[in-house]
Amino acid sequence: MQTKALPPAFIQAATRGLLHRPRKLLTTTTRHSSTRLPLLRRRIRPTSIRMQASAQNTLAEERDPGAVVGTSLRILKYPHPLLRAENATIETFDEQLKQVAREMLRVMYASRGVGLAAPQVGINKRLMVFNPEGEQRAFLQEVVLVNPQIIASSKKTDVEMEACLSFPGMSGRVRRHEWVKIEAQRLNGKQFKAKYEGWKARIFQHEFDHLEKTLYIDRLEEEDKPKVKDTLQQLVEVYKSEPYQSMQAAL
Ligand SMILES: [Zn+2]
Repeated sequence: MQTKALPPAFIQAATRGLLHRPRKLLTTTTRHSSTRLPLLRRRIRPTSIRMQASAQNTLAEERDPGAVVGTSLRILKYPHPLLRAENATIETFDEQLKQVAREMLRVMYASRGVGLAAPQVGINKRLMVFNPEGEQRAFLQEVVLVNPQIIASSKKTDVEMEACLSFPGMSGRVRRHEWVKIEAQRLNGKQFKAKYEGWKARIFQHEFDHLEKTLYIDRLEEEDKPKVKDTLQQLVEVYKSEPYQSMQAAL
């Protein structure tokens, strides 16, 4: 949760690793016809969760921002173990927490994402940010959730393409609830409830999964699993060959 808690050795190593990462593959995405999700008809909105395409079956843009001005946070890639680590409940609602949320949003926008969970930047706390518009200028759409919980969800589900910044170069179909009712705390600790539907519900569920140590590859539709096997293997190879894995010891 604390940006400055990341040791400099890790930051340098992580940055080196990210900057030397091979260019990512472009992935095709599926047509989305729903009128419930007008945003998706715009230019593709890559996500952290970079999901969904425009109606023209556009190629997904992927972007690893590497070093982002104003923050030392970096996106961890599969199979980094912190993506599977336990995420602690947040109990202190101070300026530091607000700063981390601000920096996560900064990284998310730099990645052209629409959502980011704290473990993706190496902070194993129950914190997530998202913006269904995926653009800083639409900051009024920003959502920051501390200690979120799902209190109800629709029986009805749908399947859409998803991707994740921790899994560059791949995407796949995932089944999600069409709506979820959630309870969470704001950055000041105040409890609140909300209902998210459609696109927002999908983003929430993807990021919430991160807080539960679940990654979207765990939920891929069966027939999509073989399609990502090679990419996953490549990610494992990249991870093994890059120095930023040494951060584990430091953390
Ligand atoms: Zn993700």
